[in-house]
Amino acid sequence: MSSFVVQHNPHVLPAADRERLMADPGFGKVFSDHMAWAAWTPERGWHDRSIRPYGPLQLDPASAIFHYGQEVFEGLKAYRHADSSVWAFRPEMNAARMAASATRLALPPLSEGDFLDSIQALVETDRDWVPGGEEQSFYLRPFMIGVTPAMAVKPSRHVLYAVIGSPSSPYFEAGVRPVSIWLTRTYARAGAGGTGAAKCGGNYASSMAAQLEAESQGCDQVAFVDAGSPASVEELGGMNIMAVTRDGELHTPQLTGTILPGVTRASILDIAADHGLRVVERRIPVSSLLDDIDAGTVAELFACGTAAVITPISQLKDDSGVHRVGDGQAGPMTLELRQHLTDLQYGRRPDDRGWLRRLV
Ligand SMILES: *Cc1c(COP(=O)(O)O)cnc(C)c1O
Repeated sequence: MSSFVVQHNPHVLPAADRERLMADPGFGKVFSDHMAWAAWTPERGWHDRSIRPYGPLQLDPASAIFHYGQEVFEGLKAYRHADSSVWAFRPEMNAARMAASATRLALPPLSEGDFLDSIQALVETDRDWVPGGEEQSFYLRPFMIGVTPAMAVKPSRHVLYAVIGSPSSPYFEAGVRPVSIWLTRTYARAGAGGTGAAKCGGNYASSMAAQLEAESQGCDQVAFVDAGSPASVEELGGMNIMAVTRDGELHTPQLTGTILPGVTRASILDIAADHGLRVVERRIPVSSLLDDIDAGTVAELFACGTAAVITPISQLKDDSGVHRVGDGQAGPMTLELRQHLTDLQYGRRPDDRGWLRRLV
């Protein structure tokens, strides 16, 4: 029995309007009628667990979130299967990661039970908002903010947790299209002891100037490198990165504390053996990666994350020029792994690893 008490929205969107919005919702632009909610203070712990009408928050302008960015978030999807049931993919991993991110940002961790109950209660309440079209999903965005109104720099004693949900089309509307990547040396995403392994808004705020640099270089996305010598590849602003070698290895940067531990990353590493791939987690120096791409030893390169699942990378660019991966098209293994994951998520293949959790 969920501890999230439902306060129904008296002004839900009429069904005809909802269906019109859901026909082509885009990604993360349309939001459902309700949100999950909980509040925390040191005295009461987590309380006020509820499902409430979606709407603006009224916050004191002195709240910590506006000044010191004390915030963490998560991103996961609810998938509608052919029999109309609705499922989450490994949400326990998002729960654990959010607790770890919260601890890093000196926010109070939410229990796995509360995290799972919050998404379950929201999806149950707004089940009509879960689309059923090809690669559509109900994108769930849990987040936590410190809202103590005080200018002193210290952990908030008033914290809010909420989950909003968004019926969404595939992240890239044009379908699985290879992207070009700029390797920035101007900006870093994370450093040793920093917040690189936490999913926090601050990491994204600091990635935007780098993304603009990538665009000014004619690239779609930016990738970051570490401070090592030689520099090694880390990840994109919001996706992990992997390379498929000609001799059947799957290489990805090891988790060093500066890289976000993606659920998609972990899942791909787990299914890799089913596709005859041997997994190698290691530091990947930029220079050797570029050499291997040029020599054709690295045959495929892709980015991975919940929103876009797997996105092929057609080329890397840096000051040394453009390095085209293979023939620049989506590679066969990239597409095979992507198919495997989406088939699992949408219930088109047996859940042999017990990764799905039924919500509705
Ligand atoms: C969320 C995120 C990812 C991908 O994680 P998933 O759990 O696979 O969605 C990768 N890198 C960064 C920086 C992220 O914020």
